[in-house]
Amino acid sequence: MSEHKLHLKITTHEKVVFDADVDEIYSRSMQGEFGILPDHIPFMCALDIGVTKIVIGSEVQYFAIMGGVFQLKDNQALILAQTAENGKDIDATRAKEAKERAQARLTESSDDIDIKRAEIALARAIIRLKAASGN
Ligand code: ATP
Repeated sequence: MSEHKLHLKITTHEKVVFDADVDEIYSRSMQGEFGILPDHIPFMCALDIGVTKIVIGSEVQYFAIMGGVFQLKDNQALILAQTAENGKDIDATRAKEAKERAQARLTESSDDIDIKRAEIALARAIIRLKAASGN
């Protein structure tokens, strides 16, 4: 294991959601999933709607990230997200209801804009449920 620590800050327009040293980061860019360990080369990408997993020693935390930017340099990682929620703060019942609403809209609607909106709402709800259940 590297003697260097990675630092991760997850921030939105509203607040800093996470700011601490971590051992591993796993997230999802528009190109696919990626993982970061200490001493990784500089890296930057656009984030998809997805779950970001962080490992600190034996502890694992999950965040629902609704798109944004990931930047890494000199063991300093930054996630600038539209919306970012720690899995333990997510209301799973609310996410389940949002998922059902979006699914109903997808079966009922014929309008392209409504379908796109429902697909994105569905993706948000699925990611929230994943982050809340820790996978
Ligand atoms: P909903 O239909 O339940 O409002 P949504 O996907 O439309 O879901 P957003 O517009 O993405 O919600 O988020 C609005 C605000 O509510 C944000 O601050 C977000 O963090 C918060 N939020 C949304 N869903 C949940 C949830 N299940 N648990 C906790 N916070 C949530």
